[in-house]
Amino acid sequence: MPLSDPERHIVDELERRRDELVQLTSELIAFDTTARNPDDPPRDEAALQEHLARRLRDAGADVDVWEPSAEEMAGRPLVPPGLGFEGRPQLVARFEGAGGGKCLLLNGHIDAVSAEPIDRWSSDPFTAEVRDGSLYGRGSCDMKGGVAAMTLAAQVLAESDVELAGDLIVATNTDEESSGAGSSAIVARGIEADAGIVTEATSFDVWVACRGSEYGVVTVPGRPGHAEVFQRSWREGGAVNAIEKATVVIDAMQALRSDWSTRAGFEHPYLSKPDVLPTMAAAGDWAVTYPASCELTCAVLYLPSQADEQGWGSKVRREVEEWILRETARDEWLAENPPVFDWWASGVMPMEIPDDDPIVGAMLDAGADVGQRGKLFGLDSWYDGATFTHLAGIPSIAFGPRGFPTEPGGPSIAHTLDEHVPVDDLVRCAQALAVCAMRFCGTA
Ligand SMILES: [Zn+2]
Repeated sequence: MPLSDPERHIVDELERRRDELVQLTSELIAFDTTARNPDDPPRDEAALQEHLARRLRDAGADVDVWEPSAEEMAGRPLVPPGLGFEGRPQLVARFEGAGGGKCLLLNGHIDAVSAEPIDRWSSDPFTAEVRDGSLYGRGSCDMKGGVAAMTLAAQVLAESDVELAGDLIVATNTDEESSGAGSSAIVARGIEADAGIVTEATSFDVWVACRGSEYGVVTVPGRPGHAEVFQRSWREGGAVNAIEKATVVIDAMQALRSDWSTRAGFEHPYLSKPDVLPTMAAAGDWAVTYPASCELTCAVLYLPSQADEQGWGSKVRREVEEWILRETARDEWLAENPPVFDWWASGVMPMEIPDDDPIVGAMLDAGADVGQRGKLFGLDSWYDGATFTHLAGIPSIAFGPRGFPTEPGGPSIAHTLDEHVPVDDLVRCAQALAVCAMRFCGTA
């Protein structure tokens, strides 16, 4: 549909403020908010949040910036045991509507994956640089560009004559790349909205689904013994090579993957098939000794249809365990000395939003109306939208500039060297978000 006059005015204003958008994205990139391992000290998270808070407050928002306490967050979904938030505040800024409209949440994470190896970038990952129409820097597409775009969109709306009927919320959180604990903290604070848009780099597609994941360590037992002398059979006390036995476990994982790939009901319109794969292996104590055990870290990616009644991965864990135990029991040693499973506490849940949810059509149309027609798609990995959808009942799609693939196996510029985002995309993203907010929240 054509843009209305007020929509056209906002779209033009965002185009006019293109340099400001590049500037804001560059400022966000300059803050080092590298995703953490649990014990890492904070970096520039508080400074970045305060930077956004000042801008949003100046535009008239009611801004809440807070540091969740470890005690209050302990045991909550997506929060690894013992995780603290010192120096890692969350931000929720609310632009109050005139009343009578729907409330829209715009959300983004402020952490970015490690920029290492930094010496292989063409330019410093923390000093944003525009080359050939794209802005280069760590987090440019995943997802400081999206954060800047949604911030400027909300700001321009607030500063214009347009009066939204419903509230518009801008929320930014830490800890998406590592655990999901940041969006969980925003839910714990009591966020409410009718729909959410996470401005991940969807390449202008509208994500309506993501896979869940479970990680764990499978310990494959062996029996140590001298590697250079003849070993009797294990029944007679001989050594058993845990690395060789681990190959039996890996074969079982591959067999399960293959079973899943053809199992009825495991097709999904927007997601790849479920998967199970080893991602780390550790074994052996000495070069001349049979390895006594082999620890295989494994990743399990699963579909919404495989989730348990609460929406999480307990059923998938059980299936993986039962499958591997059954398959490996054909090996006599493993039948009597079965592999042991130790699942991490930090699985994430899959999600999907019905195609006919109002926010889905509103976002697709707004994208098309500013010249970026996308399609419905999903993310094979995970994003904070699942948290808001499941834990707060806020159906939360994703929409943003170029970055992630638009088809299975397609090119991705997220999490890579020389990460970048086209400047035009930042502007189009901000425009589409503003138009979508005007239509979804209604105007007074
Ligand atoms: Zn992201």
